[in-house]
Amino acid sequence: MSAIPLPAPPHPIAERRPIRALPDELVSQIAAGEVVERPASVVRELVDNALDAGARQITVRLLSGGVRSIVVEDDGAGIAPDELPLALLRHATSKITSLDDLEGVSTMGFRGEALAAIASVSEMSVHSRIPGAAHGLRLDARTGELSPVARGVGTSVEVRELFFSTPARRKFLKTDATELAHCVEAVRRHALARADVGFSIWHEGKLIEQWRAASHYADRVSAVFGDAFVTASVPIDTAGIAHALGATGGVSIRGLAGVPDAARARADQQYVYVNGRFVRDRLIAHGVRAAYEDVLHGQRQPVYVLFIGIDPRRVDVNVHPTKIEVRFRDGREVHQAVRRAIDDALAAPRALAAGAQGQGEPSGTSWDQGGALETSARAPVTWPADGRVGPAPLWPTPLGRQQALSLNELAVLHAREPSAPWAGIAQVPTAQPDAAAWPLGRALAQLGGVYILAENALGLVIVDTHAAHERIVYERLKASLGGDTIASQPLLIPTTFAATPTEMATAQSEHATLSALGLDVAPIGPATLAVRAQPAALADADPAELVRSVLAELQQPGRATRVVQRARDDILATMACHGAVRANRRLTIEEMNALLRDMERTERSDQCNHGRPTWRQVSLKEL
Ligand code: ADP
Ligand code: MG
Repeated sequence: MSAIPLPAPPHPIAERRPIRALPDELVSQIAAGEVVERPASVVRELVDNALDAGARQITVRLLSGGVRSIVVEDDGAGIAPDELPLALLRHATSKITSLDDLEGVSTMGFRGEALAAIASVSEMSVHSRIPGAAHGLRLDARTGELSPVARGVGTSVEVRELFFSTPARRKFLKTDATELAHCVEAVRRHALARADVGFSIWHEGKLIEQWRAASHYADRVSAVFGDAFVTASVPIDTAGIAHALGATGGVSIRGLAGVPDAARARADQQYVYVNGRFVRDRLIAHGVRAAYEDVLHGQRQPVYVLFIGIDPRRVDVNVHPTKIEVRFRDGREVHQAVRRAIDDALAAPRALAAGAQGQGEPSGTSWDQGGALETSARAPVTWPADGRVGPAPLWPTPLGRQQALSLNELAVLHAREPSAPWAGIAQVPTAQPDAAAWPLGRALAQLGGVYILAENALGLVIVDTHAAHERIVYERLKASLGGDTIASQPLLIPTTFAATPTEMATAQSEHATLSALGLDVAPIGPATLAVRAQPAALADADPAELVRSVLAELQQPGRATRVVQRARDDILATMACHGAVRANRRLTIEEMNALLRDMERTERSDQCNHGRPTWRQVSLKEL
């Protein structure tokens, strides 16, 4: 074969050209390439500016999805007449003056390039009036012309014909409907962080979204996502705990984490803020994912809104012009804090069962402390202060909502109205006098060999026996994995079984893993394995079947290379499934009650290891 000719270099340099500084306009246009990708980027920057100016009400008006026109009006501090032309200059800002300011920056903006960039790719004008001024001023960005206008205190920025001067860019825009959706999403991100500010969005003269200023965070989330988001999530507030422990600095996490049942097919309701700024961060996303891993089924996407509070000096927001990426000085600390906070919130049954008996705070989330999450001296992210978002009012109407009720919630309801549903109707026949104190009630019967039916203060409880037991065994196994190994128990008589060549090989190569799992497995012939010990927590399991299923798990490609912990959890899950009560096994009432009490004590017992719910409440009303 003849030699393949090399392709020509993309830009043959014919002659040397002199070095020149680029004209200002072109520099701005280049910068605009990074900052302004589509109408939604303009909306984001203008709303950022309005919030930095202390606005209480922000109105966004769009034409053709923002492509033809974007107007953002605010009632903030305004821009002084002599500073108006400066606002449009590149690298001109009122938000920082020194490197020290930059390192501790707490405003949304600080780079001083948004208005300049937007002006370079659109027809822009700024109207503004400061308190005490006789009238407002309008600045035409293209001509630099200033003219008086009548308006209230505050600022409006009008951006028309985006990318009219850069047609190549304009071609990348999608349909108006798509661009509009992105614009609304940009406002939504701000609205979720600032419940104290009112937002409205108009498109083609029609009001399409309105989020009134709310003094309670849950009201804003309900307005944005609907009540279901709030009722199907648990509050997180590590700030209260850190405060109680006297911890200073560090990382605080507040927000709402959806219960596993509320998970969605798409990752479209996942919002993370660092010091009030919406960010996309793989580290944080991973921390969240890790916390949900244990309770979520397959590819389901959890829903959450998280506010991470951290000393501004320990996070670099100047990583990207759009500031959607951040860099933490100690990423591991943040990752762990996120994972722990969500883990604790989701594992609440244990804490809540205690709460039901009137002992202490459910899950330790005391939102009553409230106050402001300080992210900015000028514009704190306000957090409701009177406790209305605390656990109790999040679930105001217990009856008739069987889907998303968690053990967690049940215990709260229980604590509040122990026997209200049937007060004055009839006496409940209870075998044990304290049965009403059990959130999951007392067992009545087994149905189809699969379900336990129980009666509690709210009505009927239906428990998936295998799913529930599987979770209990799994959590028990995890707990018994105190150090690095699971407590093992020797078998009185070793069990032998005929093994395949692969099983033989795996048993030998994974001997250490098997020991760590509490299994003592050794070859006693060319095709025979002996089991000499198995986990104490699984004393009743069939040793041969247990070892076979673990070996099958260990054989899976890539398993050995995965993080040990993760692989072990998977293997533990396999073992738990194995050790859990099988379908069609008859249980006595005592066994059923024991299982219910175990569930109340076990973390994450609302879901089995595969993320399926383990129980359902059916209220008397529904019945
Ligand atoms: P940055 O926000 O990074 O400072 P911008 O180009 O977005 O840069 O804005 C430049 C300056 O214009 C800001 O620092 C601020 O002083 C002023 N400004 C912009 N928008 C507003 C507004 N809506 N209200 C008051 N001042 C504003
Ligand atoms: Mg700005």
